[in-house]
Formats: sequence, C-alpha cells, structure tokens
Amino acid sequence: MNASDYLIVGSSHAALEALAAIRLADPSGSLTVLTRDRHLPYSPTLLPYVVSGRSDPAKATLRDAAFFTRQHIRFETEAGVAAVYPGAHELALEDGTRWHYGKLLLATGATPAVPPIAGLEAVPFHRLRTLDDSLALRAAIGTARRAVVLGAGLIGMHAAENLTAAGVAVTVVEPRDQVLPSYFDPEAAEHIARGFAAHGVVFRTGHSAVAVAYAGAGFRLTLDDGAVLDADLLLVATGVRAEFGYLAGSGIATGRGILVDAGMRTSAPEIWAAGDVAEAPAFPGPATALAGILPEAVLQGRTAGMAMAGEAAPPYRGSVPRNTYCFFGQSAISVGTGITGAPPVGAELVTRRDPAAGTYWRIALQDDRLLGIAAVNLPLDAGILCEMILRQVDLAPVKPLFLDQPCATGRMLMSRLWR
Ligand SMILES: Cc1cc2nc3c(=O)[nH]c(=O)nc-3n(C[C@H](O)[C@H](O)[C@H](O)COP(=O)(O)OP(=O)(O)OC[C@H]3O[C@@H](n4cnc5c(N)ncnc54)[C@H](O)[C@@H]3O)c2cc1C
Repeated sequence: MNASDYLIVGSSHAALEALAAIRLADPSGSLTVLTRDRHLPYSPTLLPYVVSGRSDPAKATLRDAAFFTRQHIRFETEAGVAAVYPGAHELALEDGTRWHYGKLLLATGATPAVPPIAGLEAVPFHRLRTLDDSLALRAAIGTARRAVVLGAGLIGMHAAENLTAAGVAVTVVEPRDQVLPSYFDPEAAEHIARGFAAHGVVFRTGHSAVAVAYAGAGFRLTLDDGAVLDADLLLVATGVRAEFGYLAGSGIATGRGILVDAGMRTSAPEIWAAGDVAEAPAFPGPATALAGILPEAVLQGRTAGMAMAGEAAPPYRGSVPRNTYCFFGQSAISVGTGITGAPPVGAELVTRRDPAAGTYWRIALQDDRLLGIAAVNLPLDAGILCEMILRQVDLAPVKPLFLDQPCATGRMLMSRLWR
C-alpha cells in the first residue's frame, strides 16, 4: 500500500498554500498531492483569459514539475479519490489504489452544477471549471456563430463577453430577474446589463431553459415561456457545488460542503478541509458559508497546512464575500453582505448615483459599521473594504463623507488603522 505522512487531495489554490505551510514547518515529512486533473496546478481564475486567447494556457500554471522535485513532494495526476476511510487512515482512488495517510487535507474545490433540463445530457454542452474546459470552449468559439449561455453569474458573464468579442451572437438565460444576482442589487445589475446589451448581448432574465435537443448542425433550446433559441454553442454556467461525493459512507460531517471549524478541522481526526469544498465559519458568525473565492481558499489552505504540521495557526476569521469585475472596459465591485436580497434587520441602505459619470454605489451599514458595498465604475479597493468589515470600523465620525466618497474615505481610515 502507498503511504504518506501528509496526503493532500486537490492541486489548486488551497492545496498549494497548505503544502507550502507544511514544508515551511516540516521539510522532510513525506508529502503527496493527489489530483484528478491531468495538468500541473493552474489557477481557474485565469481560465476566462485562456478562453479569450489573452492568456497562453501555459501562463495559467501555478507550479512546474521542478518545484515538486525540489520540495520532495510526490505529485500524482489523474488520481481521483473515490472513498475515504477515516478509521483506517486510508483512502481509495477511482482505480482502486489505496493510500495510507498520517494527516489528510481535502481540497477538492467545487464542480459545475448541471441543472435538470430535458435532453441536456444528450448534447455536447460546455462548462468552465478546468483547463481542459477552457481549451474546449476556446476551440468551439472559433467556429460558433450563435451561443446560448445558461446563467448570468460571474462565469457566464465573463464567457458572454469573450464570445461577443469573438464575433459570436450571444443570448444569456437567467432564471432570476437580473444579472449577477449573488453580487449586485438590481440597479447595479441593470448598469452592467446595459453595458452588455450595447455590445449586442441579449438577456432573457426571469426565464429558465426547460428542454434542449439537436436541431440541424446545432441545438434548439426551449424556455419556460415556450420561446425557442437556436444555437451552435451551449455553455452551462448555472453555479457550482462543493465536490465531496467521495465522502459518502465516511461518517465525516457535511452540509453544503465539508463542515470545518476555525482550524479547518473536519469532524474526523487528522482530516482537514480547505477552499471551495469547505463549509467554514462566515464572518462574523455564527453562520457557516462556502466562500467560493481565491483569497479565502488561500487563507484556509494556509490555516490547514500550519495545523497539519503542528504549527499554531491563527483561527480562520470567517469569510467575507468579495468580487471585482471588469466588463467591456467598465468595472464593478461587490464586497460584504446586505447588498443583495432583503437587507438584514436594522441595516441602513444608502444609494448614490451620478448618471453623467456613469457611476453608482450602494452601501449597507449596521450600527454605523460597514456590512457591504456594491459599486459600478467606482475605483474602490476590495482589500480596504474587506478589512473595514472585518475590523468593524466605526464610521459614525466620518459617515456623510464615507457615503459620498467611499473610496478616498476608506483609504484615509485604513491608512490610519494599518499604521
Ligand atoms: C472561470 C473561473 C473564474 C474565477 N474567477 C475568480 C476571481 O476572479 N476571483 C476569485 O476570488 N475567485 C475566482 N474563481 C474561484 C476560484 O478559482 C476558486 O475559489 C479557487 O480556485 C478555489 O480553490 P480550491 O483549491 O478550493 O479548489 P479548485 O480550484 O476548485 O480545485 C479543486 C482541485 O481538486 C481536484 N479534485 C476535485 N475532485 C477530486 C477528487 N475526487 N480527487 C482528486 N482530486 C480532485 C481538482 O482536480 C482540482 O485540482 C473563479 C473560478 C472559475 C472557475
């Protein structure tokens, strides 16, 4: 049987940060990375640029083979984990190979969630999560004329922009009433949708696809209002789900992800989880959340790696949602909570807009502390805003100034606090 003191499953941001933390504390313990992917580690965040052709696929690589040799790390590709046996400190790969571990990190991320649409599994649709997905989509763009994108989240919108730039006619279908519903309020979303519409993108918000079938050389999609859309490229970007099906029968506690505490420990001894697969404390608690963003995967991976190597890791402080987004030369940013959906009880919502400048921002406060902010075409710094939320900075002394000029006021406040 194969054996490793430290066994890491997954080879993306959380895994790489964990193995760096382990190697800092323990240069000689045996360390193995098992990944389902066939490539060296790469960043999924760069895949939209691989699709558009702005980035060479090789530039998405995060570590080369020599790195693993230098660090005395065994790196196994096409090694998908199929089952974990916590009592025996073992796991099994999809090909039946067994591994014994001393300490185990599960960093298997997330995978696209495919909606139940009649006929979908019978047609060759695209998704965008892996490097191979991006290469397939890039190749398809070269011959496509009409595309349908299912889902107006960040990945669907990125792809819609890339397809449009490549001369493909794009229709985006989104069941909610606005684009980017998880990040922006309806007015900010309207700004963004207008930017896309000006470039010819058609939105069918408030509608879902119910069926898809081959039609001629392409596909025909039927929507819930009976409308039909013909396309020769179909991208499904309707969200992701945490990838932990291999834990069935293991007894490890799961919810929407693998449940972990502030030390990234799962319910089983000597097993940690980090990154998009982990359901960790949300800031300020007591809720848990799937963070789903790169900086949190990095932080969680470091926390887990330090703990695995016996180092005293600061407890994970909980996730704060944050996304910056560029579209057709414009920018948008969303940080924190309270901006979308019904505001929390007692929250104060303030909206500012300058139609001449094309700017818009909405701020959610609770007890004069920042809960969240969403803005279009305002040069805000996500790091500063995130820090203001985490530190629960009292904005009362500068409130009118912050509401009118969140960018300059946030910088001024944090430059004092960071000193
Ligand atoms: C197109 C795209 C754009 C994005 N843009 C941004 C952005 O701009 N900003 C941002 O903050 N975040 C962005 N994200 C999200 C960000 O990429 C993720 O938060 C981050 O990659 C999570 O890292 P992770 O290590 O948890 O897992 P993942 O990156 O999901 O990697 C999971 C790893 O586990 C492996 N794996 C899965 N199942 C198994 C198994 N059973 N056995 C073995 N190995 C397995 C996979 O092969 C992979 O190596 C984007 C994601 C995508 C897809």
